[in-house]
Amino acid sequence: MKIDKSKISTKAISLCRKLQQAGFQAYLVGGCVRDLLLGNTPKDWDICTDAKPEQTKKVFDRTYDTGIDHGTISVSMADPGVTPAPSDLFEVTTFRTEGQYSDGRRPDSVAFVTNIDEDLARRDLSINAIAYDPVNDKLIDPFGGLKDLEDKVIRAVGDPDERFAEDGLRTMRVARFSARLGFEVDPGTESAIQNNLDVLSRVSKERMRDELTKTLMTGSPSVGLNILHRTGALGVLGPVFHGTAITNTFQMIDQCEGSLETKMAVLLSELDRTAVEKSLRDLKFSNTEIKKILFLNSAVNEFKKFSSNPDPIMARKFFSFVMNEAPEGFDKSLSEFIYLAVAIKLSGVDQLKSLLSNSKGISRKELNITGDDLIKTLNFKPGPKIKEVLNELYAKVLDNPELNEKSKLLELAGQFQLLAAIALNNTIRKFANKPNHPWRLSDQEEEDLLNKEFDFGRGIKFKAKDIPELATQVEVPAGPEQYHPEKNQLLHNNLVFDESKKLSEDPMVWFAALLHDLGKSYTDKNIWPKQHGHEELSVPYVERVSNLLGVPEEWKEFAKLVAQNHLKCHKAKELSPKTLRKLFDSFKGSKQLFNAYLTSCEADAKGRLGGYADKPYDQKQYLTEKFDQRETLPIVLTPENKLAISATDLLKAFSDRGLSPGPELGNLLKKIKEMVAQDPSLNDHSKLMDLARKIYS
Ligand code: ATP
Ligand code: MG
Repeated sequence: MKIDKSKISTKAISLCRKLQQAGFQAYLVGGCVRDLLLGNTPKDWDICTDAKPEQTKKVFDRTYDTGIDHGTISVSMADPGVTPAPSDLFEVTTFRTEGQYSDGRRPDSVAFVTNIDEDLARRDLSINAIAYDPVNDKLIDPFGGLKDLEDKVIRAVGDPDERFAEDGLRTMRVARFSARLGFEVDPGTESAIQNNLDVLSRVSKERMRDELTKTLMTGSPSVGLNILHRTGALGVLGPVFHGTAITNTFQMIDQCEGSLETKMAVLLSELDRTAVEKSLRDLKFSNTEIKKILFLNSAVNEFKKFSSNPDPIMARKFFSFVMNEAPEGFDKSLSEFIYLAVAIKLSGVDQLKSLLSNSKGISRKELNITGDDLIKTLNFKPGPKIKEVLNELYAKVLDNPELNEKSKLLELAGQFQLLAAIALNNTIRKFANKPNHPWRLSDQEEEDLLNKEFDFGRGIKFKAKDIPELATQVEVPAGPEQYHPEKNQLLHNNLVFDESKKLSEDPMVWFAALLHDLGKSYTDKNIWPKQHGHEELSVPYVERVSNLLGVPEEWKEFAKLVAQNHLKCHKAKELSPKTLRKLFDSFKGSKQLFNAYLTSCEADAKGRLGGYADKPYDQKQYLTEKFDQRETLPIVLTPENKLAISATDLLKAFSDRGLSPGPELGNLLKKIKEMVAQDPSLNDHSKLMDLARKIYS
C-alpha cells in the first residue's frame, strides 16, 4: 500500500511545509491518511503538529479559533484577499494526550505533547492512527495500522478494553468503519465491545443516533448492524432494537437506495407505528425525520390494500393517500416509498408504477365540499360528525371521481342513508369482534334492537340503525347494574320508549324519552358502566338528531330540556331551593310542558328491567307541588335567567345625563348584579331601575 501523492491537496502539503519551515513537525493524520492508503481521495484533511495553537497562528496570515479549547485552529490557505472556500480551510491540531475518562464520554483533561506517537496513542482504531508527512513522504505507524488496512481488520489502538472503557461511542465507530470498509473486527476488539456495553449506555442518545445513521449510509450497513447486534450494542439503543424484527431487515437495508429516513424505515419496517415513533423519539430524531419515517411506515399498510387487489381504483386510493400524507411532495415521497417497497420486497410495486399515469390520485383538499357547506346548506351542527361525513364523502369520491361536484356531494350528504351507512358499518364492524363487555347482548338481540321501528306519527318513523347516534348505543352500558339491570343502553332506550307510550299520548314525550340518554355514548369509557355527566353531553346530540329528522322545533327544545334535566327529577328531594327554581324557570311558566317533562322522566324510571315498572314514582307529585309554589323560591341568575334590566335600558335612561358605553356603564351593571345575587327578589325591572337611579346619582 502506497500513498498516491497526486491525491493529496497541494494546499495541505504547502501548509505542512510552512509549519516545518517554521521549525515544527506537521503531519496529515487520521481519516485522510487511511483513505489515501486505501487509494481513495479524502474529503477533508486533518493536520497535526507540535506547534501550540498560539505558535500556529503566528505562522499563517489567516486563522480562526474554531476549536481552540482542544488545541484546534482552522487555517486558511486561500490567496490574500480571497474569501476562503471550504477546500482552503484546514484543521490544525496540536499533538495531545487525554487524561482520565471518568464519564465514558469525554476526557477529564487534555495535555499538549511534542511526540506524534503519544498523539496517535489516544486515537480509536489502528487504521485511524497513522500519520503521514507529505513533505518528506514519511509514514508514522506505531500501532500497525498499515498492516490492518492490508489485512482488512478493525482493531483498537492499544488495550481494547481500556479504549472502550474510556469512550462508549468507539463501539459504534467500530461498526461504522467496518460497514464502510467491509473489514472484519479483530476478536479481541469485539469482545472488548461486549465487555463495555455499560459505557456505551452512558453516551447521549444523539451521539448514538449520529453513529447509527452514518452506519446506515455506508455501502453495507448490514456489516455494521450485525456487529452491533452480535455484541449486544444494538440493544443499548432501545428496547425495539433487541428482537428478530430488527435483524431480519439488515440485508434489506443493503438493498435500499433511498434516503437516510427510508433506510431507517426499512430497519423499523417490522414494527408497528407506535413502537416506531417511540424509538425514534428516544433516539432524538428530528420531527421532520420522524414524519418521513412514519409516513413510510403507514404507506406500507396502505400499499398492502393495493397489492392485494391491484386495480386502477386501488391505485388511485394509494396515490391519494400519498398526496394527503406526503411529507416532502408527492413525487419525492412516492419514490422514497418505492425504494422502501423494493428493499423490503413488497410485491406489486411494478403494477403500481404502471398505473401511475392513468390512476391519478385525488387529494383530500380537492374534495369539492367543506364542513361549512354541510353546516350552511344542510344544517349540520358543528362537531365530530362533520368530519366523519366528509371522510365518507371523500371515500365515495375516491371510488367514483365523478361524484366530486358540490351539488352531488351535498345530495349524498343529505341522504340519510349515508349516515345510516356509517352507523351500520361501525356497528357491523364491531359485531365482527365484539368486546366481551357485560352490557353487550347476543348478536341476535342487538340486531333486533337495531331493527325495531319507532313510529311517532306524522310520517316520522325510523329504526335505531338509521340514526348513528342511536345505533352506537348498542355498544354502551346503561349504567351500574343496580340501577340498570337491563345493562344495555339501546335496550334501555327501547324500554323507556315503550313506557312513554303507556304513560302519554304525546309523541313529543316519546321522542324525548327515546333520545334523552344519547350522551352516554360519549362519556369517559374508563369508568363505564358509570355514566357521569351524560345529561349535559346528550344535549348537542339530541339537537343534531332532531335537526336531521326534521321534527318540530318544540319537540327538539323539549327533548333537550329532558335530556339535560332528567336526573334532577329522579333526585327531586335532594335538590336545593335554588336548583329547583332554576329547573322550573326553564319551563317558562308552562305547567303543561312541565307535566310532559315529569312523564318523560317517569318513563325513564320505569323503563328498566327488574321490578322498577311497579315502583311508584312519587317524585312527580313532590315536584308538582314545588312547581306550583315556585314564586317563593330564590331566583338564580343564569344565562337563561338574566338580570331584569339590560345595558340598553341603562343607556336609554341615563344618556341625557352623560352615560355612554364604556367602563362607567360596566361598573354600574356590575354593582347591580352583585346586589341581585345577594337578594334575588330585587331582580325586577322597575325595582332595578330605581336602584340604578340611586346608584347613578
Ligand atoms: P470520516 O471519514 O468519517 O470523517 P475519520 O477517521 O476522519 O472518518 P473523524 O470522526 O472525523 O473520523 O475523526 C478524525 C480522527 O479522530 C479519527 O481518524 C481518529 O483518529 C480520531 N477520533 C475520532 N473520534 C474518536 C474517538 N471517539 N476516540 C478516539 N479517537 C477518535
Ligand atoms: Mg473526518
